[in-house]
Amino acid sequence: MALLDRGTAPEDTAGLIQLHQSIAALLADRGEWRQAYEHARHALDIISAERAVPEAPPAVPEQFREEVARLRREHAEAREQAIRDALTASYNRRYLDQRLVALVEQRGACADGLAVALVDLDWFKQVNDTYGHQIGDRVLQRVVELLQDGLPAPAFCARYGGEEFVLVIPGVDGPAAVAVAEAARARVEHHPWSSIALGLRVTVSIGLAYEPPADQRPGATPEAQLRHADRLLYAAKQAGRNAVAYHLDGETRLAGDASGRRGAGVRRAMAH
Ligand code: GH3
Ligand code: MG
Ligand code: MG
Repeated sequence: MALLDRGTAPEDTAGLIQLHQSIAALLADRGEWRQAYEHARHALDIISAERAVPEAPPAVPEQFREEVARLRREHAEAREQAIRDALTASYNRRYLDQRLVALVEQRGACADGLAVALVDLDWFKQVNDTYGHQIGDRVLQRVVELLQDGLPAPAFCARYGGEEFVLVIPGVDGPAAVAVAEAARARVEHHPWSSIALGLRVTVSIGLAYEPPADQRPGATPEAQLRHADRLLYAAKQAGRNAVAYHLDGETRLAGDASGRRGAGVRRAMAH
C-alpha cells in the first residue's frame, strides 16, 4: 500500500494520512476490519515517522490513536465471531474443519494419536416438544459448558450442527480418549437438570473414533474419522443411548457405566 517518501511535502503527508483514515473508516463501516486496520496502521506509521522529524508539527490526533485501537479490537472480535457458534459460543463447523485438517497433518509428528468424539443429545426432539424451544436452546448451551468443563488443555468442543457436537482430543492414547469421552457423558447425565425445568433429564450418546500416531499406520482423513465416529454414535444409540461407543481390537465396545450392556453389534467390554 502507501509508502512514506521522506521528500513528501507536509501538506501532502497530511493528505495521505487523511486519505488512509477515510479509507479505514469506510472499510470499517463495511465490516472489513482487516483491510480497515491495515489503512489505519499506515496512517499511524506516517504520523510516527513525522514525529521523528524534529521540525515537523506534532500531528498526533489522540482520537485517531483510539480509532486504531478500536479497529484492532473489532477486527479481533470479528475473527472470533467467525469461528464461534452464535447460540452456544462453542467453536463452529468452519473452525472444526480447519483445525481437524491441521491436526491430521501434524499427527505424524505427535507422540500420541488423535481422538474425535461425535456427541448427540438423546431424545432431544422430546425436550423441545415437552418444554419448548427456548428451554431446548438453554439445554444446548448448558451441554456445551458441561462438555467443555473437564476437557484436557488442547482439546476443544465444536458444534457440528443441530444438537450434535464434536470433541477433538489431541495428544492422547486410546484409553485416555475413552476416559475423557466417558467423563463428559457422565457430567451431562449427572447435572441437576431440574434447575432449568422441573422433571427435565438430559443425556448424550457419543461415538469415539481414535486414530493412533501416523507412524503406527497411515492415518484416516478427517472426513473418514468423523464417519467412523458417526457409525459408533449409531451403535451407542442402538445400545440404549447415554453411552460412549468406541472400537478396540476390531470390536465395538461401550465405555464405563454402559460397558455391561448388550446392543446391536456391541460386545460386552472389559471394565475401564
Ligand atoms: P436421538 O436420541 O435419536 O438423537 O433423538 P433426537 O430426538 O435427539 O433426534 P432427532 O434428530 O429426531 O431430533 C433432533 C432435534 O434437535 C430436532 C431439532 O428441532 C432439535 N434442534 C436442532 N437444533 C436445535 C437448536 O438450535 N435449538 C433447539 N431448541 N432445538 C434444536
Ligand atoms: Mg442428531
Ligand atoms: Mg439426538
